[in-house]
Amino acid sequence: MTRTRIYLDWNATAPLRPEARTAMAAAWDCVGNPSSIHEEGRAARRLVEAARVAVATAVEADPAQVVFTSGGTEANVLALSPLFGGAAPLARLITSAIEHPSVLAGGRFAANQISRFGVSARGTVDLDDLRRKLGEGPPALVSVMLANNETGAVQPVAEVAALVHAAGSLLHVDAVQAFGRIKFTIKDLDADLVTVSGHKIGAPKGVGALIGRGGAGMPQALVTGGGQERGRRAGTENVAAIAGFGAAITAAMAAAPTEIVHMLRLRRLLEEGLKASPDVVIFAEDVERLPNTTLFGRRGLRAETAVIGFDLAGIAVSSGAACSSGKVSASHVLAAMGVPGPLAESAVRLSLGPSTGESEILGVLEAWRKLSGVLGKDG
Ligand code: PLP
Repeated sequence: MTRTRIYLDWNATAPLRPEARTAMAAAWDCVGNPSSIHEEGRAARRLVEAARVAVATAVEADPAQVVFTSGGTEANVLALSPLFGGAAPLARLITSAIEHPSVLAGGRFAANQISRFGVSARGTVDLDDLRRKLGEGPPALVSVMLANNETGAVQPVAEVAALVHAAGSLLHVDAVQAFGRIKFTIKDLDADLVTVSGHKIGAPKGVGALIGRGGAGMPQALVTGGGQERGRRAGTENVAAIAGFGAAITAAMAAAPTEIVHMLRLRRLLEEGLKASPDVVIFAEDVERLPNTTLFGRRGLRAETAVIGFDLAGIAVSSGAACSSGKVSASHVLAAMGVPGPLAESAVRLSLGPSTGESEILGVLEAWRKLSGVLGKDG
């Protein structure tokens, strides 16, 4: 008998939305190359351009400023370039300490051009530290995420933007976890560049976009060759994935008001249940978080053991930090928040989705009650 699994790892990736599946299936039958001028090519081009409008509309951007990429990672690396438009090269990159590894790696900046600013114990960026770093040198490119993938903490990006622009610097915002999950526009953020990705919102994996504001121009191309994406990203477009991305974001935006209320209700139920067991800590609990994310820990528990225990109970969760190589590494986010090692090592992330049901949350709490009894102080 096959057991029904409970999937609570939507921040790692989300199941495909039916609208994306339908759009992709139709696109697979579209034979043309979007760069070809014949009718088949024009039909493929129409799919790409409709998706471009859908992605731009979600953040009230100009579709001409959307560059499709192979995902959030590529969009981040494309954004992190010293060369923008025709302007003189930027001499430095400043990122927060809690960014995704694709931002922390610094893109096309040399290691000695990169500096970091800190976060508070609550999980949001330290604006005073950013102000200090901005004052230490010439205009910079600053990269800050909108919502953290581990804690879900929503960052004060508009306040960051005010500091960055007052210093004559540029702002890139990694909005991969926030896109389609909380409402924002590129204007509200006052960002010069925004990264989004498809697979967190029910589009296929392997598609994303870098969205520009217009004024500062776009970064120098990372992938060069043909003139696709207005010369900003060479290579024949992944038409089906892009069409799926457009369909998924349109569906996500339409459903967001109800989905957010639903996820917040379930998360409250989840967190009340978790906190019923002694010593459980919810990280970044006091700040605004993505409606679907709970990162919790308990001193003495080992995250890997808990993740395996949940898995054996039929529940997919993740440890605080993503494990790209199947190996769990210590969370740089919790370290930056000053969380002591033993507590940070216990962090387990539960990330819900719009199709998560109340019975699934009750199932998770039941599993946690059993696990937390078995996994005593030594995990
Ligand atoms: N940025 C953040 C905040 C993420 O959470 C992720 C993926 O987990 C990425 C960037 C990378 O996106 P992708 O998986 O599309 O390369």
